[in-house]
Amino acid sequence: KARVYTFGNKTADGDSRMRNLLGGKGANLAEMSKIGIPVPPGFTITTEVCTEYNSLGMDATVGLLKNEVEAAVSGIEKTMGTQFGDNDNPLLLSVRSGARVSMPGMMDTVLNLGLNDEAVIGLAKRTRNERFAWDSYRRFIQMYAGVVLGMKPETKQDIDPFEEIIEHLKEKRGITMDTEFTVQDLQDLVYDFKDVVKKRSGLPFPTDPWEQLWGSIMAVFDSWNGDRAVYYRKMNGYPGDWGTAVNVQAMVYGNMGDNSGTGVCFTRDAGTGENLFNGEYLINAQGEDVVAGVRTPQQITQIGSKRWAELAQVEENDRINDFPSLEELMPSIYKELYSYQDTLEKHYNDMQDMEFTIQDGKLWILQTRNGKRTGAAMVKIAMDLLKEGMVNEQEALLMLDPNKLDELLHPIFDPNALKRAHVIAQGLPASPGAATGQLVFFADEAKKYKNSILTRIETSPEDVEGMNHAKGILTARGGMTSHAAVVARGMGKCCVSGAGALKINYKTRTLSVDGKEYHEGDWISLNGSTGNIIEGKVATIEPELSGEFAELMELSEKYTKMEVRTNADSPKDAKVARGFGAQGIGLTRTEHMFFEVDRIKAMREMILADTVKGRRMALEDLLPMQRADFEGIFEAMEGLPVTVRLLDPPLHEFVPHQLATQKELAEDLHISLSAVKNKVAELQEFNPMLGHRGCRLGNTYPEITEMQTRAIIEAALNLKEKGITAKPEIMVPLIGTFAEYEMQEDIIRSTAQQVFEERNDSIDFSVGTMIEIPRAALMADKIAEKAEFFSFGTNDLTQMTYGYSRDDASKFLPIYIEKGILPSDPFEVIDQDGVGQLVSMGTERGRKTKADLKVGICGEHGGEPSSVEFCHKNQMNYVSCSPFRVPIARIAAAQAAI
Ligand code: PEP
Ligand code: MG
Repeated sequence: KARVYTFGNKTADGDSRMRNLLGGKGANLAEMSKIGIPVPPGFTITTEVCTEYNSLGMDATVGLLKNEVEAAVSGIEKTMGTQFGDNDNPLLLSVRSGARVSMPGMMDTVLNLGLNDEAVIGLAKRTRNERFAWDSYRRFIQMYAGVVLGMKPETKQDIDPFEEIIEHLKEKRGITMDTEFTVQDLQDLVYDFKDVVKKRSGLPFPTDPWEQLWGSIMAVFDSWNGDRAVYYRKMNGYPGDWGTAVNVQAMVYGNMGDNSGTGVCFTRDAGTGENLFNGEYLINAQGEDVVAGVRTPQQITQIGSKRWAELAQVEENDRINDFPSLEELMPSIYKELYSYQDTLEKHYNDMQDMEFTIQDGKLWILQTRNGKRTGAAMVKIAMDLLKEGMVNEQEALLMLDPNKLDELLHPIFDPNALKRAHVIAQGLPASPGAATGQLVFFADEAKKYKNSILTRIETSPEDVEGMNHAKGILTARGGMTSHAAVVARGMGKCCVSGAGALKINYKTRTLSVDGKEYHEGDWISLNGSTGNIIEGKVATIEPELSGEFAELMELSEKYTKMEVRTNADSPKDAKVARGFGAQGIGLTRTEHMFFEVDRIKAMREMILADTVKGRRMALEDLLPMQRADFEGIFEAMEGLPVTVRLLDPPLHEFVPHQLATQKELAEDLHISLSAVKNKVAELQEFNPMLGHRGCRLGNTYPEITEMQTRAIIEAALNLKEKGITAKPEIMVPLIGTFAEYEMQEDIIRSTAQQVFEERNDSIDFSVGTMIEIPRAALMADKIAEKAEFFSFGTNDLTQMTYGYSRDDASKFLPIYIEKGILPSDPFEVIDQDGVGQLVSMGTERGRKTKADLKVGICGEHGGEPSSVEFCHKNQMNYVSCSPFRVPIARIAAAQAAI
């Protein structure tokens, strides 16, 4: 079996279908080489070797790889006309990670590998650029020591020994920029760097290129299990046994003088989706200079350059002189790059994110991948590609990550509030959206406030966890392709980058701009769509959805088999959901209606009553309120089915537990405080989730079910008089036995009948039940003899199948997930293996009795894409989820059906 796959010179061993084996980067390099894109030659060590390495260790792995790697290196030597380990004409290599999915910045890279005290002189002679050679050498020592010898600082606050030496030298020489170092300075740096390595590791810096190569390969494998990569995997649910591939490639240099450069480009706008080739580059620089945001990059296209100048308020003359676009500066290279981006987008039928380097006038494409994009761009690009004929309808729908639609549904700044906003500075609109929060300056402190704005000079991969917690990200340095910008867009998080006017002081934890100082904890607002940085809090409003969004939603309808309903307890929520295309309500939790201040009193009176008569009197007061509630909801959902669930939670949730409120209640009801206290004590339960709740209430206090049924039926009849059709479905919660259900159904039907007789009119309604206790799933065939529909309450079903209390599981679930005992939170993503069996069995058994039994889901899982797919597979009629997840569920339902 091959462990090494070579590419370059317009041929390759692998291709893009081999992502799992070669990693995304390796597979793409092979594919690009095959279709004639000029990639620097190299080879990929497979992901399987990463797994082998994890169990065998370094020496055995080197033994397995030796012959193949040596052959591959000599192949690169032939293509490049250089030699690995040769002092006069050295071949230099890069060693990079490459998992099957892109994990930007999460793993390690070593560049300029192969340099030592002799080779650096050879390189300087050959390139006639001494400065460049020594700069490469000092960068290599710094990187190799950090990655392979473990000399990277652990946290941002720690001091990097190499950066310290650099700062020291700059101070001594009275300069501020790396580019101002002379050759002698760089040679001094190399000397000092090697000295630090020797002092810290006890060994001299390795001079043998093969030792350097093997060390780097193994370090990249190690970085698969580094903290950053593990955190990123967990965040995205990627399993650890995927492993990473290692890509070894000939170095090409963008820092060989003014005829060289490097950049990043996108075939379309990753922020808006606009079909406009765009990107950034730097002359005489290496790739990491663009990403690290140390220098302000220039735009690739002239249009991009003009737009940038407008935002940055740079005069046209200054723009052309100081920040010319690549199109203006190197027109023929630009043309060539343009044709490759066109070829690549058409080849992959998706927006590409490419990296390139120009080495002494020759263009090399370093990598291409499907570009990360915002939710808005995702929607526009899918629809545009469909219209351009690049993808078909199914492919367009499958391009969507349903969860990302969430971004589009989130608030933006209220334009009126914005008019009064005081803009203190402007940065780049790096990732759209609006964020308002309190300033923090360190990633590990982002959790300090509920809403925080992580403010950094620049960000790096160690900051990812903090970025995830923050509401928004603000950086003083870096362009649209800086780490902060790329990661924020991936997270769908608002980000303003490169706000050069900001002075950030980590020591005093302050941000100053124009002489005004802001401290940690101060409120600030970011507009990621314009780049504005605003003082204080700014009000937000709901977003408006684009035409493409509506088109995709409509398209989803064509393929989807399931209905998407919503869980809504108020006319307002019902209307929002209907606006998003909900086709009914799958769950109205009636208990929420009793918690409102003006009602809780009547509710408490009902609970505290000792007799049926007393309870009935209190329920009389509640009836008109309930009826009005239902009228509102039925009207909002006119013509669509509305599933109303009878009272579910344990009664003790409604009674006061504090002395002061108990006293108040006693006075209100003209009873003694001790009577109140006794009742509260009586209602106390050891295990309320398994206690006196659900249909157990309705069966012990039938008058509650009677009142609720009456309210539902009367509301529907009242609307009927107004010409509005209500379609109530009355749902009995938490049944475990047939008899429990039967008794509730009898009460419901006889009450309805009574109301029909009183009103001399009738409406259609149905009666069904929730399946949320394992026993109900097991007895589904029996229950379906009477129930007209099932709705899986997967919140309770998960709770009772696992035996995890919904209210207490947060104490141990995160630890379980971290330790790999659970793949994800089963209250969020349905456990298809276990709980899923009960869902499948319940559905099958129910339909064995009643072939046309309507089945749906109304637990939180109803809006989670993988769970929606599971519901589709089980041939459910509908899923029901919270209003803002309706679009997500609609797309997920369509994808499941394709
Ligand atoms: C459920 O248990 O899944 C459900 C929808 O009901 P609730 O969350 O109200 O218990
Ligand atoms: Mg429930």
